Amino acid sequence: MMSPTLPFSQYAGSLPESQTLAITARAKKMKAEGIDVAPFAAGEPDFDTPDHVKEAGLQAIRDGRTKYAPAAGIPPLREAVAEKFRANGLEGITPDRTLICAGAKGVLFQALQALLREGDEVLVPTPAWLSYPQMVHAVGGRTVYVDTGPADGYVIDPEKVRAAVTPRSRAIILNSPGNPTGAVQPDDVQAAIGRIAVEHDLVVISDEIYEHMVYAPATFTSFAAAAPEAADLTLLVNGVSKAYAMTGWRIGYGGGPKELIVRMARLQSHASSGTPEICQRAALAALTGPTDDLRRMQAAFILRRQVMYDELAKIDGLSCPLPDGAFYMLPDVSAFLGRRFEGQPVEDVSSLAELIIGHARAAVVPGNVFEAPYAIRFSYACSEDDIRAGVGRVAEFLRSLEG
Ligand code: PMP
Ligand code: GLU
Repeated sequence: MMSPTLPFSQYAGSLPESQTLAITARAKKMKAEGIDVAPFAAGEPDFDTPDHVKEAGLQAIRDGRTKYAPAAGIPPLREAVAEKFRANGLEGITPDRTLICAGAKGVLFQALQALLREGDEVLVPTPAWLSYPQMVHAVGGRTVYVDTGPADGYVIDPEKVRAAVTPRSRAIILNSPGNPTGAVQPDDVQAAIGRIAVEHDLVVISDEIYEHMVYAPATFTSFAAAAPEAADLTLLVNGVSKAYAMTGWRIGYGGGPKELIVRMARLQSHASSGTPEICQRAALAALTGPTDDLRRMQAAFILRRQVMYDELAKIDGLSCPLPDGAFYMLPDVSAFLGRRFEGQPVEDVSSLAELIIGHARAAVVPGNVFEAPYAIRFSYACSEDDIRAGVGRVAEFLRSLEG
């Protein structure tokens, strides 16, 4: 029987799957099949969720918190989020200006849904996390890229931002520390972007999910603190996935202008009715409880970053700055493009990543999905042993390429 031709929307019809999630899932499957694969694709800490956080989730179940919760989030969590954002520099923010969503992803998606009209533009500095342009596209907007590069440490040039603004520009997405570069944007750059936002009425969506992964001497400054004059246009986006090893709990949170939050909350009330209270209670414990586990994980990331950097530095022809934050490295691999594997030229980073996954047994993400077609992303959210063994195999594989 012929299958019917379904009339997909112009937005979802051509939407690709998230490659970071797809490659991570593939690596997990290979591992389950007994294949020793280095998990460098994963954008998630390998640590277990801290015990006191798990216990809060279990207690919520025991307490029967298993019904519909307020769609915008439970009041104590919204209060904790408001307090956190005030501490980060968003002065005067109150719980009614916060929202709890299914991950930071949920906050970002609903913000774009609430903000954009057909054809509106969103500025996105590149290299950029792959879901930003797809989310913009999915709600009818257009992404306008603002390039940064390894030579300037992936620091944004505010003049390039200014030059990219058009009458259709509605928002800019900042992500510091950034995925996939690990770059931390200097305060003066964030302040300059804040001034441009005020001049042109742009909403600044500041995705600060890697806030707790910043390595000395670098420090974290929230966009809210760096650009207080843009406070009325600032949407802070954050979540518990990365800092507290809670990727599967799906809790993210946002805080910003009341009018925007109200619209996002209404959308959420129709789309999903909000997130499970069980997960929200666990997130509350993460945000307000002891920080020992957070510190322990941060200390591990400092060591892992160094090991990954040292191991990659041993590979001739590959260059990579030492990133200040997040848990990714984005080495330039262009020296290897055009070389041959079993007689066939390696044409682009996507084929190179595929060969690395298959022949070096290291799951990596090709940079083209992040608008960095010269690079490959390595996550170091895994053990030092995995890093040494996996990068060792990648080195051996790259050496084996001919020509
Ligand atoms: N923003 C960035 C930059 C990310 O890397 C991720 C990765 N998961 C997210 C947002 C989404 O995080 P989550 O939905 O798990 O909170
Ligand atoms: N953000 C992480 C990554 O870039 C996790 C996967 C995803 O949500 O994209 O790998």
